Amino acid sequence: MAKATVRARQTGQKDKPKLYRVGRARTGLGLFATVDIPSGKLLIEYTGTRIPTREAREIDRRRANKYLFEIDNRFTIDGSARSNLARYVNHSCDPNTEAESNRGRMMFRTVRKIAQGEEITLDYGEEHMELYFGPAGCLCDACKAAKRKAAKIKLKKARVKRASARRVDR
Ligand SMILES: [Zn+2]
Repeated sequence: MAKATVRARQTGQKDKPKLYRVGRARTGLGLFATVDIPSGKLLIEYTGTRIPTREAREIDRRRANKYLFEIDNRFTIDGSARSNLARYVNHSCDPNTEAESNRGRMMFRTVRKIAQGEEITLDYGEEHMELYFGPAGCLCDACKAAKRKAAKIKLKKARVKRASARRVDR
């Protein structure tokens, strides 16, 4: 009986088209849209064991588990299990999903249209970045574009400086 139930559930899952897949991202693995996804859609649940938030903060202090997702000051989800596909969603400062908690569950909802093949991202917030990002800081597309722009401005300034130096020489 239990086996039949499991089999039925597995078949059901197979028939349901997946909106995302795990794939290679800039930093390890990421989650990518397999179809165009509209804005405002509940996309994926962040699943895992619920632990007391007090305990989770203690673990964070040791930087021991980057998959802790706080629901509120009572409960936190430990989403480190590989079965939790939402753990593959990488951080972006310009994300295409937002997390919302509803009765102790944590769901990611799209905040704009996501094109097929696009990486699914979420803003994990300053505290997470401070704890778990390396000295290079954030490497998301938005930050890389900002850094490129800053580097270009710097380069332009350096060129202007060199040009004016040459003029002085003459
Ligand atoms: Zn960023």
